[in-house]
Amino acid sequence: MAESARQPQEPQNPEELYRYLLDRVTNMETRNLELREQLRQIESDKRYIETQKIRYEREVRKLKSEIEQLRSPPLVIGTITDVIEGNRVIVRSSAGPRFMVRSSMCIDPDKLKPGVRCTLNQQSLAVIDILPESYDAQIYGMEVVETPDECYSDIGGLDPQINEIREAVELPLKRPELFEKIGIEPPKGVLLFGPPGTGKTLLARAVAHETNAYFLRVVGSELVQKYIGEGARLVRELFDLAKKKSPTIIFIDEIDAVGASRTEATTSGDREVQRTLMQLLAGMDGFERRGDVKIIGATNRIDILDRALLRPGRFDRIIEIPLPDVEGRLAILRVHTRGMNLDGGVGLKEIAHLTEGKNGSDLKAICMEAGMFAIRGEHEAVTRQDFLDAIEKIGLDFDGHKYISNYGAMFA
Ligand code: ATP
Repeated sequence: MAESARQPQEPQNPEELYRYLLDRVTNMETRNLELREQLRQIESDKRYIETQKIRYEREVRKLKSEIEQLRSPPLVIGTITDVIEGNRVIVRSSAGPRFMVRSSMCIDPDKLKPGVRCTLNQQSLAVIDILPESYDAQIYGMEVVETPDECYSDIGGLDPQINEIREAVELPLKRPELFEKIGIEPPKGVLLFGPPGTGKTLLARAVAHETNAYFLRVVGSELVQKYIGEGARLVRELFDLAKKKSPTIIFIDEIDAVGASRTEATTSGDREVQRTLMQLLAGMDGFERRGDVKIIGATNRIDILDRALLRPGRFDRIIEIPLPDVEGRLAILRVHTRGMNLDGGVGLKEIAHLTEGKNGSDLKAICMEAGMFAIRGEHEAVTRQDFLDAIEKIGLDFDGHKYISNYGAMFA
């Protein structure tokens, strides 16, 4: 009884049958539409998953090839020195010796030129690729400043030296026509010599600032390299870079490291230093006089410099930067106390008298130390006593004369 109640009633007459069938058809059509929509959705999901799969496969391939590359042995850097016919070239590896090798077919033969840097296979030393023209990282590692911030007003007590350097370096860069009119060759560069910390670097930076020149600072000892010919190459690249960026001031600090007198009896290390010096001399000779590259050398030991460096035509002016006298010390103290809040009792003249034998960097340190004493004592301004304490402290820390007299023999 209950079973028959749950069953939909069978259509009794044709009209009911017609309605029943119409209902079923409508239901089935709706269901069909739903299933079609589902199918479309599933198909689009499938397509999406397939593209994802292709993407991931590509990524896996890329990562695999990257792992392969990372695992591959390193390539040797070399320089092409000569190109024999076809794909045979002579290369010099960075370790020194020269080899005749083959170059890869993929390299454009026009790019195979002497002097070009390339990568070499470790075993066969075949040329694998040509490297873009670039200067040695060490050149870029050197101090390179677009235009330094220091100006002449930051230098105390060196007025005659500033005038000399302005005539020799600034004038040819700023007004080359004056030299043309008179018909003389402008100086190529100047050599500054004097005790440490007297403002040689400062002077060179100030000239670069006044002439809006690119400032390249190299320390002589950095040019002395481990492998034969490397130092000379660095010097060559340094001059190339300077020419490219001109106007440029090349400042070679501690030039005595490469410019010391050449002697007869030498070790291979000394010979390498001499080779670097010769490249330096050749670089200086290679300059057009009216070119926009000037060289400023600096040394504390002019007595050991090679005579070839000192002759006119290399460094045309040799300027001594001495230890400041009392007037000089006063001028330097004025420069370094310009921005300081000084107490009325501070007499810079007295401090200049008390700092006999001190150089510019000592005086700068004294000013800074006096400021530190003022901060420590919670003073409103730097007092005379702060300066006296600072002089005593710097005297203890940096009294070069005492140090040399006590320990000089040890380093002789
Ligand atoms: P080194 O021979 O050791 O390289 P240097 O002569 O090149 O020394 P600098 O580096 O120019 O000495 O000087 C060091 C610091 O001392 C400078 O940054 C500057 O603040 C200060 N100084 C030296 N001389 C003077 C000066 N005449 N006027 C103002 N400041 C100076």
